[in-house]
Formats: sequence, C-alpha cells, structure tokens
Amino acid sequence: MGIERLYEAPAVGSLTPVAPGVQWLRLPLPFQLDHINVWLLEEEAHYTLVDCGANLPEVAAIWDQLAKTLFATKPLKRIIVTHAHPDHIGMAAPLMRIHGTSLQMSMSEYLFTRAMCGHLDGFDGVTAGRFMASHGLVDEAAEETLRARGKLFSNLVPEPPLSFLRMQHGDEILIAGRIWRCHEGYGHSTEHISLICDELKLMISGDMLLPTISTNVSVYGLEPEANPLQLFLKSVESMATLSDELTVLPSHGVPFKGVHERCAQLLRHHEHRLKELLAALKDAPMSAAQAVGVLFRRKMDGHQMSFALGEAVAHLHYLWRKGLVVRTQENGVWKFQTPL
Ligand SMILES: [Zn+2]
Repeated sequence: MGIERLYEAPAVGSLTPVAPGVQWLRLPLPFQLDHINVWLLEEEAHYTLVDCGANLPEVAAIWDQLAKTLFATKPLKRIIVTHAHPDHIGMAAPLMRIHGTSLQMSMSEYLFTRAMCGHLDGFDGVTAGRFMASHGLVDEAAEETLRARGKLFSNLVPEPPLSFLRMQHGDEILIAGRIWRCHEGYGHSTEHISLICDELKLMISGDMLLPTISTNVSVYGLEPEANPLQLFLKSVESMATLSDELTVLPSHGVPFKGVHERCAQLLRHHEHRLKELLAALKDAPMSAAQAVGVLFRRKMDGHQMSFALGEAVAHLHYLWRKGLVVRTQENGVWKFQTPL
C-alpha cells in the first residue's frame, strides 16, 4: 500500500475534526516550514492538548481566541508534549498558567527544555559555532545563524514549564476512556514520545513520522561524537512493526495512512544517501561541510546550511561508527575517508 493523503491543508487557527473527539489545529511558524499541527482531544469534562506551538504573538492570539470560545464551555486541563522542540513546547508554560493545566512529557525532553531556557554552558550558540567550525563550516552567515540559534530556543520558549508529569515508552495514558500508548523515538530529539490509540486506529507521530519531509537528524556540539542516524533508523524500524491500519497525525504536513510504506521510504532514503556519501569518500578525505555538497545539491541560506551540516555529520558518524570510514583531524577540522 502507498501513502494516502487524507486531507487538504487547513487554514491556520481553524479546527478540523479527524476522528471522534479528536480535532486538528494548525498553528503558524515563521520559517520555511510555516506551520505545526497540534491535536485537541475532547474528554467528558475537559480538553487535552497534544503539542502547543511556539511562543509567538500570532500563536498566542489563536490560543486567546480559543480561551474565549472552545475552552469557555469546556476547559483545557491537560497538555501532553511529544518532544522539547520550540514549536511543540513554546506555549506550554503560558497555557499551564492561564488554564491551570498539567503537563506530561518525557524526562529527558523536560530537562533539555530547562537547560536550553537556562542558557547552560554547552547548550549555547558559542558551543554550536565551535562544533560547526570543527566540521569545516567557514560560511560566516551560517556561523552567525548558529550563534543566533543559541537564542532561537529561548526566543520561541521564553518561559519554561516549571513542573511536569513524566511519561515513558510503554506507558498507557487514558484519554476520554481510551488507551493511548506511549511509543519512544530517538535520533531527532532526546526522548520523543508518539501516542498510539489502537481503538481509534490513530498515531500522533510528532516529528518522528512525517508524510513528505524527512525528519531532521543532526549531531550537536553538546554530544559531538553522537550517532543519531543509527538511533533514528532503529526507531523507524520499530515504527514499521506498528499496524498499517493506523492513521498518522503528523506535526507537519497532513494526516495520512501508510505507516509501512512511509517507514520503508525513509529507510531507503537514508540508505541511498549513505551509499552516495560512501562513494564520494573513496576519492579524498572530506569534511562535513564538504559532504553537504554531496548530500544536498542546492543553494542554501545560513539557517538551512547549519541544519544541513548537522545532518551531514550525522551521516558521516553513521559510516564512521560502522567502521566504513576513518576520521582524522586536519588543522582542527574533522575529515572522513574510506580506509586506504
Ligand atoms: Zn522536532
């Protein structure tokens, strides 16, 4: 079975019912990726929200409007966050404060949020800049973007949630009398949790399974020798064992069916890129900055370049950890090559 696109993209701020008691809300994002989908689950006495949007005036305005309409008749009482990226967690603290809700998420995603909001050493833009320089990034515009990215998180998440309720892989959460299973995912963020309801045949996949774009998998300065692509591919293999009957509610794009085909596409996509990269590394040692040209054959701005570099390092580390390439340092820059 292929991928079946079930809806057209809705307008931001509008609610679309996607299953009994499940509504889809699209919120704006000021990037090339211009939206995030969040999900409102209606319970007997209240609403539960999965993911919140970034903390931006245009997003807060949509939540203000819903406070006066939807939540005036049935309050918002619980928030669940799939992972700690700003478009998912940004509005959590204000919504908790305004509506008196609880927040449920995984432990490492919660702690990551606090570390980012607290500007801890190692979580800052300077560390990111140094890391990227060690992979040959000399594009000044990109480096500037990286330094700014240290502040990007706290710009979109100016206020961290001050408490949370832990959820872990395998936990069962009761929402409107139905069981939603927590399903872990790695490689994109520290401890991403997708939610699966077998009764409704639904999966809120967060960023772990998207219909058209491939999830960002990057190495960062905090964990410079990480192998997130291996973690991600393992997680995709695990999702490929889920029922193909599930309708996937993704954070970006539109709901779709075809879990198995989408997982197979992602595995093929990365396998293809690894093969291409490995072939290129036979000729001469290459830095991650040079590998970006092999993996992404298009012109990129500084912001895209910084993401592309993290992805390139992830692919190189996968090959390196498999023993398919060796790593040496030249003038402070890591170079990768197939063993001679
Ligand atoms: Zn994300």
